[in-house]
Amino acid sequence: MPLAETPLDVLVIATHPDDAEIGVGGTIIRCVGAGLRVGVVDLTDGEPTPHGSPERRAEETVAATKLLGLAWRKNLGLPNRSLQETLEARRQLAGVLRMTRPRFLFAHYWDDSHPDHVAASRLSEDARFWAKLTRSDLPGEPFWPPRLFYYWSVHLRIHPKPAFVIDISDCLEQKMEALRAYSSQFVEGRPQVFPTPLDDIRDRARYWGWTIGTAYGEPFGSREEIGLKGLDGIVV
Ligand SMILES: [Zn+2]
Repeated sequence: MPLAETPLDVLVIATHPDDAEIGVGGTIIRCVGAGLRVGVVDLTDGEPTPHGSPERRAEETVAATKLLGLAWRKNLGLPNRSLQETLEARRQLAGVLRMTRPRFLFAHYWDDSHPDHVAASRLSEDARFWAKLTRSDLPGEPFWPPRLFYYWSVHLRIHPKPAFVIDISDCLEQKMEALRAYSSQFVEGRPQVFPTPLDDIRDRARYWGWTIGTAYGEPFGSREEIGLKGLDGIVV
């Protein structure tokens, strides 16, 4: 898909195709249903993996993109397994932010055992800063994404305290369908008896839903304070 012709409301920065679906899939579906323009920038093609290939992963990503209802998606083609916060990578991502101009930016949570995810988290913060620079040779006009939140796709068995949890009860089945599009990652060669990788994702969504008194939820971190205009929107 070409760069967005009209600005996005939400942009998810993901290291590997399927990271956005794992961490933000339900929230994406919820936002799209509310009429927001949502995009995903995948930093790498995610390969090699035991059962995938670049072509296969690209096909799976197209299928998941349709199921999510994304307005825009692009792969930057940065190196998988050796993703680094290089100046060139920062330049590419800052250019994406200036061209898509999202109000809400979602990045990997900063604490993870996967080095690519850690690099992507830092890269997202630094690209956010660079995107606002004047007198630069970056494409587009200077832009500062006003809100940056962090999603869980962690390979650590840790329990960070989220800043907020979004209710995805009505979006869970659609999220699971988008995840099943990545058959090479979640189905083939994976355990077929409970708990499968997809069971894990569903049950974690149930846990986070329980924390806010709903069926399913997705947790998000924030380094910055979050302002509310009132009590509307808070689950009670
Ligand atoms: Zn990943």
